[in-house]
Order: sequence, then structure tokens, then C-alpha cells
Amino acid sequence: MALLALEGIEAAYGASQALFGVDLALGAGEVVALMGRNGMGKTTTIRVACGMMPARAGRVTFEGRDITRWPAHRVARLGVGLVPEGRRCFAPLTVEENLLAAARPGPWDRASVAELFPRLAERRDQRAASLSGGEQQMLAIGRALMTNPRLLILDEATEGLAPVVRQEIWRAIARLKAETGLALLVVDKSLKELARVADRAVILERGRTVWQGGMADLGRDVTDRYLGV
Ligand code: ATP
Repeated sequence: MALLALEGIEAAYGASQALFGVDLALGAGEVVALMGRNGMGKTTTIRVACGMMPARAGRVTFEGRDITRWPAHRVARLGVGLVPEGRRCFAPLTVEENLLAAARPGPWDRASVAELFPRLAERRDQRAASLSGGEQQMLAIGRALMTNPRLLILDEATEGLAPVVRQEIWRAIARLKAETGLALLVVDKSLKELARVADRAVILERGRTVWQGGMADLGRDVTDRYLGV
């Protein structure tokens, strides 16, 4: 049984429909890349999966349980951690306060987050607002991990970050995959990095799932057609 499954999801912003039929399945411990060009519906799909936006049609299930109409806080408590686009840490709070505000019991605590991102430990008393973009992304990931999720969703995992910091984030993602049983749903522009870390890919085109399969089966014809510029 899939950990998270979206079936025939439709969603709209007012009168403007953004999703017309999104299907996505993600198994426990699996890393899935959610791909598609700009504006194809990746963020909207994530919003629906997290209960931040209602589905007009279709079904969202988590371990077979229908959570389609659940509010975001309940979906989070069920074990879905989100690192949203643009990060959004609590700017006036310190690194430590940001982490503690998210804490829920489980293997992830301040010590294990500090081990994953030593830079956060060095800056624990600094306000989030004073961190670099990369450090803020580390904090956003750390916060999501502090909720001890079973599924971690990263929207634009490395967007706008310097190359060196990107590598740090990808290394952390690879470690999460190798060393924990955490399932990951990742959006990013780097096909190369996604190909390295993801088990499977789901491709969206104009609000619809147009391709879903193993990363190894994602050929040039498919990437040229749906991801090329
Ligand atoms: P990007 O990589 O550019 O973030 P995306 O694949 O995540 O793209 P979405 O952000 O989900 O795509 O957008 C899907 C469609 O919904 C687009 O046509 C977009 O213009 C529209 N849309 C997104 N957010 C809103 C909003 N808040 N209000 C109205 N329309 C929106």
C-alpha cells in the first residue's frame, strides 16, 4: 500500500483551475521527484497533499486512509512534514526557538538535526532573519524533521541557493535516504541531482500527471518533451 497517494486530483484558485487530474503514489521509504516546467502544478499538488488547499475532485490517502478533506494541521500530525517554497522560518525567532517550536517526540531532536546540519548548531542563538538563504533552508528542513514526519516534502529544495550550499542540501537529502526510512517527495529544477537521489518520478504538464515511473526509465524523449525549455 502506498504511504501517500493522490488520485485524480483537481484543484482551483477561485475560477482558475490549476489541477485537472494529478495521480501520484509514493511508498514508504521511497524518494519521488515531482517534476514539470514552471506553472505546471507542482506547488499546487503539494498544497493539496498537505491539506493547505481543498481538492475539487479526487482523493488523497495516507496509508490507505482518506485524508482528502483534512485540515493542514491534522495532516501534519499524521506525519507529513513540509519544507515550503521560499522556506518561511519564523524570522524574529532564533534557530533554536524555530526548531523547538516544531518539536514532536521521535528520533529527530536538536542533536540529530545539528548532526545533519552542523552550521545550524553554530548559529543556534542567531535569529532566523539573519541567516543566509542556505542556512534558512537548512533550518526549514530541520524544523520539518523536528516534527518527526514519515514523509518529508521539499518544494524547490535548492532554489536560489549558491552551488556550494546546494551540494550541502543534496548531501543531506542523500543521507536522509540512506540512513533513515523517511519517504521524500522532492521538487527541484536540477534533473541531474534528482536523477541521482530519486527512485521514481512523477511529471506534471498543465495540471495533469503525464508520466510516472522509475527514474531509470526516464529517457531523453520524456525529459525533452516535458522538461525541456
Ligand atoms: P513553479 O515551479 O513556477 O512554482 P508549479 O509547477 O509549482 O510552478 P503551481 O505554482 O502549482 O506550479 O501553479 C499551477 C498553476 O496555478 C499556474 O497556472 C499558476 O499560475 C496558478 N497559480 C498558482 N498559485 C496561484 C495563486 N495563489 N492564485 C492563482 N493562481 C495560482
